[in-house]
Amino acid sequence: MNDFLCPKCEEHIRVGDNIIFKIKNSKKQSALLLLSPQIGNYTSIKHPSFEIQNGEYLEFYCPLCNAPLMSDIDKNLANVILQDETGKCHDVYFSQIVGEQSTFTTDGESVQAAGHDAGKYTYFKIGDKFRKYF
Ligand SMILES: [Zn+2]
Repeated sequence: MNDFLCPKCEEHIRVGDNIIFKIKNSKKQSALLLLSPQIGNYTSIKHPSFEIQNGEYLEFYCPLCNAPLMSDIDKNLANVILQDETGKCHDVYFSQIVGEQSTFTTDGESVQAAGHDAGKYTYFKIGDKFRKYF
């Protein structure tokens, strides 16, 4: 099972089959959003009273330490740490824009892209920007 960790506090944000985030919409309203731990699965769960529009920019936060998860690579991409069964860590970047399907997984050596909007971030190349995990 892959675990997901906050890059700031390094606590577990995956519980069962969900990764739990705190989000804010463009009206600065807060809510909890659950995402699938499967890379490339874009189903999400939220309370029906919390409205989000397609194309809206959401801010993702760690539900534990409240740190913004916006990556330093692109403000559209949030960053979390994936820890695989062997204990190896990877950085995962995913779009904070509603409906935009782009996810990147990197161990600092190679990048795997998923989602049909991944091509939007074509500058995404292996470089010194990435943390290396060994
Ligand atoms: Zn945190």
